Amino acid sequence: MTGTILGCIADDFTGATDIAGLLARSGVRVSLRIGVPDHPPTSTSPFEVIALKSRTAPVADAIAETREALAWLKAAGATRFFWKYCSTFDSTPEGNIGPVAEALMRDLNTDQAIYCPAFPENGRFVFMGNLFVGQQPLAESPMKDHPLTPMRDSNLMRLLAPQVTKPVGLTDRLVVAQGVDALRASLARHRSDGTAHVVVDAVANADLEVIAAACRDIPLITGGSAVAMPLPALYLADGLLAADAPKQVAHVIDPATIILSGSCSSMTNAQVAAYTETGAPSYQLDPLSLAQAGTPAVLEWLAKQDLTKAPLISATADPASVKAAQAELGVIEVGALIERTLAACAVAARDAGARRIIVAGGETSGAVTKALKVSQLDIATEIAPGVPWTYCISGGEQIALALKSGNFGSKTFFSEAQAKLDAK
Ligand code: ADP
Repeated sequence: MTGTILGCIADDFTGATDIAGLLARSGVRVSLRIGVPDHPPTSTSPFEVIALKSRTAPVADAIAETREALAWLKAAGATRFFWKYCSTFDSTPEGNIGPVAEALMRDLNTDQAIYCPAFPENGRFVFMGNLFVGQQPLAESPMKDHPLTPMRDSNLMRLLAPQVTKPVGLTDRLVVAQGVDALRASLARHRSDGTAHVVVDAVANADLEVIAAACRDIPLITGGSAVAMPLPALYLADGLLAADAPKQVAHVIDPATIILSGSCSSMTNAQVAAYTETGAPSYQLDPLSLAQAGTPAVLEWLAKQDLTKAPLISATADPASVKAAQAELGVIEVGALIERTLAACAVAARDAGARRIIVAGGETSGAVTKALKVSQLDIATEIAPGVPWTYCISGGEQIALALKSGNFGSKTFFSEAQAKLDAK
């Protein structure tokens, strides 16, 4: 059996499902571990992804956790590694992208890593070392006002330099456009000049193909998820991945479904509205009544539902309502209250027979998987870019889980997700 070839470490949960989903487009088996497993690797997949929660952790903690993940992936047999961060390069002058990359380079005994956060299908482009979100430079995009990692510069070399101890350089689009040999030659020149950290431009999937082809044997690629996408086909062509490597599993899952929405992003608001309009049963959580009366009302409603009708329990609200609830109850408190409630609904629905669970919201997904005591997900069919169906075991039952970060998916995501699983 093929051992693990590529080991990926992601700095947050939905980032891990994102890269896992793109690798799974190959049809090869991909496993996602939530946190570093507390047991040595057994029955591993050709592609292993470890989801950390290190994006905004103190630098030393992020480094320690990532090194642990690396050690586990090495023990699983991986020889190539991918450090996955956000395609908007979410970080501060202290880190964590650069310091973690340098720690990984030390442990892998390598003197060069590439940086490619481009994800053209999702509107993230790197040109002349500058990152664009759609047509806007990063520093002019909504990311400039991110509460934890405000991105006030669009130039990746300038963003990275204060985070690392070794020189930073660029291999630009003009070189990438010349193909694999030109890119390799550029990286070799950077290496002989002592440039350890090389930002590589990409504005289209064709560029990612060139970068992946040129870098498929280097120990450490860093970036958003998209540059990993061509790797499975390259490994197959190189004979590294056997033609009979374990394939994605496709279980037959009972149609009893629950949909839980805790994201308040504009896309999730549109998705909840579109799903409610289909006439599916739905329950709107009100933070203030929840704070006063707790969960009995929603749990009673849930107990009466026909789960084959895929009911929706949602806390999704417009920005004004969210602000009002936060002012009344506190930002952290209201968030935690809703996450706890939706997590309790997930467990109650599973116990009532739900075998398909669809969750909207990154933090909400974390709370739900924790309550369901899920530590490993097998990646299945893709619903939307960056959002795959996954399989896991919870409460001794085989469950299909779809975990969607706020802005992902189209308006009809909740219906599409159900249809995708039925089509399998
Ligand atoms: P996203 O992926 O869109 O960021 P998250 O689940 O990560 O979604 O974050 C949404 C946060 O908002 C969660 O902590 C959730 O509990 C909280 N939340 C959900 N609904 C409401 C609401 N009506 N009022 C206030 N906070 C809410």
